[in-house]
Amino acid sequence: MNPDTPDKLKGFSPQARLLISLAVGIALIGMVGYGAYSYNLLQKEKTALLSELETTREKGYELLLQTRTQQATIDEFQSQILSLGNTVGTLEKLATTDEELLKKYSKVYFLSENYRPAKLSAIDHKYLFNKDDAYIHTQVLPYLETMVEIARGRDIDLLIASAFRSFDTQASLKSEYKIVYGAGTANQFSADQGYSEHQLGTAVDFTTTSVGGTSSSKFQTDPAYKWLLDNAYKYGFVLSYPEGNAYYKFEPWHWRFVGVELAKKLYVNKEYFYDLGQREIDVYLIKLFD
Ligand SMILES: [Zn+2]
Repeated sequence: MNPDTPDKLKGFSPQARLLISLAVGIALIGMVGYGAYSYNLLQKEKTALLSELETTREKGYELLLQTRTQQATIDEFQSQILSLGNTVGTLEKLATTDEELLKKYSKVYFLSENYRPAKLSAIDHKYLFNKDDAYIHTQVLPYLETMVEIARGRDIDLLIASAFRSFDTQASLKSEYKIVYGAGTANQFSADQGYSEHQLGTAVDFTTTSVGGTSSSKFQTDPAYKWLLDNAYKYGFVLSYPEGNAYYKFEPWHWRFVGVELAKKLYVNKEYFYDLGQREIDVYLIKLFD
């Protein structure tokens, strides 16, 4: 018995063994061939898949880029809309803010006899020196009343002696003054009709109980005047005709609303409204009631 012959082939004839060995050999070759073929196929599939994946990834990246570009466009569009909104808001504010309210009057600029503030409101009688009704520009009213309230909280007995005066009221007032004081003297302290800040509805003449009247030089030494000098700017009011001004005689009682922003600038820089150029003043129109 050949010792190399496997046990399982015992009993087979040499021919049969050869045939079986051949069959096994062919089967093995076939299996290896099939394995190689399958491997090749898999490799091909893998390559195809990888390239597909790459394409998908590229497409995804393109899509992402596209999305980002679109987003950027949307963002830009939105910011354009926003800024357009701001511009419209600014324009609307400018269009609805009465530009007369920051004009220089008093020999500089003439106010039409037909001019009337857009809306006037009655000032609460508890703030008035006289029993008669007094009116002020509706949007200035809260600033004025707040200021007077705060002053009173500091024991400053601030009273309003005069506020809005129409063109006609100013005209008759001026002619009254001319009769009483003579034209020369009247011109020094009373504006001609059309040149008065009182026609704007934003100017106020103050007094106190101890000063006891309108347009009194006693106001100059009253604590109320000192208080106004230190505080009125916080509420948007400025002294129109300070000592030594080129327009009228010194009027310590006469204060005009120009908005908090401009009043503060004048206070900080120790400047006066009438010393500024109209262009410089007009910049503050948009912030008048802020
Ligand atoms: Zn006045």
